[in-house]
Amino acid sequence: MGVGQTPAFVSSKPKACARRRPIMNWSKENAQTCPRPRIVSFRLDSFFLLEVHIIPLLVYHTPMAIKFYSLGAAEEVTGSKHLLEIDGKSYLIDCGSFQGSRAESDRKNRDFGIEADRIEAAILTHGHLDHCGLFPLLTKKGYKGNIYATPASRDLASLIMMDSANIQARDAEYLRAQAEKKGEKFTWTPLYEEKDAIQATSQMLGVSYNRPVFIDSNLKLEFFDAGHILGSAMAYLTVKGGDGKEVNILASGDLGRPGKPIIRDPAKPPAPDYIVLESTYGDRLHENTDDAMNKLAEITKRIVSTKGKLLIPSFAIERTQELVYYFHLLTDEGIIPEIPIFVDSPMATNATTIFQVHPECYGEEIKEAFIKHHKNPFGFNSLQFTSSVLESKALNDRSGPLIIISADGMCEAGRIQHHLAHNIENPNTTVLIVGFMAENTLGRRILEKADEVRIHGMLLKRRAAVQKINAFSAHADYGEAIKWLKSLDTSRLKKIFMVHGEPKSQAVFKKHLEDAGFPNVDIVKYGQVYDLS
Ligand SMILES: [Zn+2]
Repeated sequence: MGVGQTPAFVSSKPKACARRRPIMNWSKENAQTCPRPRIVSFRLDSFFLLEVHIIPLLVYHTPMAIKFYSLGAAEEVTGSKHLLEIDGKSYLIDCGSFQGSRAESDRKNRDFGIEADRIEAAILTHGHLDHCGLFPLLTKKGYKGNIYATPASRDLASLIMMDSANIQARDAEYLRAQAEKKGEKFTWTPLYEEKDAIQATSQMLGVSYNRPVFIDSNLKLEFFDAGHILGSAMAYLTVKGGDGKEVNILASGDLGRPGKPIIRDPAKPPAPDYIVLESTYGDRLHENTDDAMNKLAEITKRIVSTKGKLLIPSFAIERTQELVYYFHLLTDEGIIPEIPIFVDSPMATNATTIFQVHPECYGEEIKEAFIKHHKNPFGFNSLQFTSSVLESKALNDRSGPLIIISADGMCEAGRIQHHLAHNIENPNTTVLIVGFMAENTLGRRILEKADEVRIHGMLLKRRAAVQKINAFSAHADYGEAIKWLKSLDTSRLKKIFMVHGEPKSQAVFKKHLEDAGFPNVDIVKYGQVYDLS
């Protein structure tokens, strides 16, 4: 395995054969239409035989040069941007936003690392911001090619990219006003606008699971269920060389977990030569997914008995729909009584609509429980989606028992802050934490049961009970990831490239992988080139 040091191609100019082509088969005829121009660029009229007989031999028997490198999510968990270079042509896997402190993420997001028109085709594994958030910037910078995604990922990504454009526009207004107050010059501009998000969506081509397509004459893509969120996919790429040799590369995207509600378990693609594997929870074991519903039932029964309110800060995509799905099941089965449940987040409401129109992503359990009986899993009598601010405020005056599911997931913004401000001093309130709470967030302080919390500038006494369910994670822990790896045909596996994880987690995960019989693991470094030829 040769390992280069710097990606020299990052600043190089587009190659002559970097033209766009439609999906095609890699038949011999097609292969002949796109020989590597660097090999056949000289013309020797007097050597007719050479041109007719020898050059095709060169084309068909030249081993391919395959390189892999990452320009994001290398030793970190945001900004996924991985590249495959095949005979000098670049293919992008995910184009996500960096998230973190404003200054650092802004700098990283603007430093794209590769010229947009150098990219031949792009792939999106799923609709989370850290995987799709920079596609509008890519198209703004001149990328004209296709972005392959499952239909559900396309829809979710569209929602997320538009939301990101809106947030940036609002940030620009706010920062401009702040600068004007201080008499400072204001120069910051959003990374992209709504029109760029619309352009990115227009370049997304829906490709269903298990429907292989040729994204170039020598490159086949097939999506397999990743079990992470609706529409999430592993990208299984087969590169065919002129010598007939095939190299299979499996990019896991974010690897999900078995037993999650709504979607199917992670699939088992055919034997890969290389795996690009995420490592978010490489040092952790989660609670069993089965525990989530039981705990939810217990907590709900408690607020019914105290006539309290249950506030659940939740991410708009997947977590909210999972909660709705569980509450629907619990109500249907009579485990909890019918009490009002409100989804109070416009983003979550829009995302739920997308969940409703993609039953092709559903697992057997949800089909058995709802679809078979012509029932909408995300709609039932006691569930309401509030849209206007007035409706949201009206919830303040309602008495319990009731449940409010609202964003943002870490309580740093959004309507959940209003609900917390109104209810956190009431001992009959329960706040249920179902997701990761980063340090220095309101959600983290509540999780740590701080006696006082500051919301909207007010210092409030926390009298509400705090509960936590750890079973909702959408990422495989190390045990689940290893079990999944062992279920694959690894007879031709040469190497695992570890991405999308913090260094501490990756070091532990590498050790677990070695112990489990996977000794060839490289922790991918930013910009370092790995040879897959
Ligand atoms: Zn994700």
